[in-house]
Formats: sequence, C-alpha cells, structure tokens
Amino acid sequence: MSEHTELIVALDIAERDQRRMAADVNDWLRASGWSVRSASANGPDALGVHADSFRESTWSSAPSSAILCSVEDSMWDAVSDMEGPRCWQCDSEIADEDISHLGDWMSGPEPVFTCGRCGAVALAGDMNVASSVVFGNPGITIECFGYDGIALARRLLTEVGGSFANRWAYVHRQR
Ligand SMILES: [Zn+2]
Repeated sequence: MSEHTELIVALDIAERDQRRMAADVNDWLRASGWSVRSASANGPDALGVHADSFRESTWSSAPSSAILCSVEDSMWDAVSDMEGPRCWQCDSEIADEDISHLGDWMSGPEPVFTCGRCGAVALAGDMNVASSVVFGNPGITIECFGYDGIALARRLLTEVGGSFANRWAYVHRQR
C-alpha cells in the first residue's frame, strides 16, 4: 500500500526567518482549528475540527492524522510518479528543455517557465507542482488516513496563503 503525504511549502522565506515562521504557522494551525496540539512533547499535532469536513464517509476505522510545520531539507518532491510542473492556466506539462532548469533552483534562483501551449509565464513554484518539486522552507507536512487529503490540502493552501503573505506551493508526495 502506498503512502501519501500532503506538503504545503513556504517559498521566498529567508533562512534566518524559517524556524520562527514554522512556529508561527503551527500556532496559526492550532488557532484556526486545523490542528490540535500533540499529547506527547515532540510529536506532531493531529488534525483539528476544521478538517472534519474532509473526512471520508466510507472510511470504516478511526481516522488518524499528523500535521506539523517544520524546517527540513529544502527539497519537497512528489517522489514516485514525479514529473515536471504543469501550466497553472491550461494544465499542459512544461517542456523538457525547461524542466532541466529545476535543479538550478536548489542552489540558485527559481526558474521562470513559459507554457509552450498557452504562453502563460510564471515562476516554477507558481505553476502546478502537485506532482513535481519545489525548494523552500518551512513546509507543512500532513499525513491523514480517513480524510480526502488532496482536497484538504488545497483548502489549507488557500487559507494559509490568506494569513501569511509569502507564496506557497502544494506537492502531493507518494511513495
Ligand atoms: Zn498553458
């Protein structure tokens, strides 16, 4: 059985600010009902009542979840089935010759992509990277069984973007 993880990654945050921001995001997740504080000292939080509308009605066992914003290795990727970013506007895959610049992002500037089909231009992290990769920190990691994780993550992406002014990107990890 494959393991699914939802990743919501903060972009454009300077390294010196990342840990403080992770703590701020965890506070915000708890205050907004997305998470409830872990019972154990260093464990991840669990999903809170705000996530209840994403529970799968067909799930028979008790749902379980973990959610935490943390500073990790800066690469957040889809792992298996990883592909290039897709156009935010028309959902075409970005051309191979452009994707080779993704690796530059690890140690340099974020590449700008142009969609070969519709001409939309955007920074890599503003394209649809759900099955691709982004570089940034901190990131929110969500593991949830008995929830519609993809729909939940998309809602959380919208809400966290409304509360923190930096850019955010969503990646669905599967391994
Ligand atoms: Zn396009």
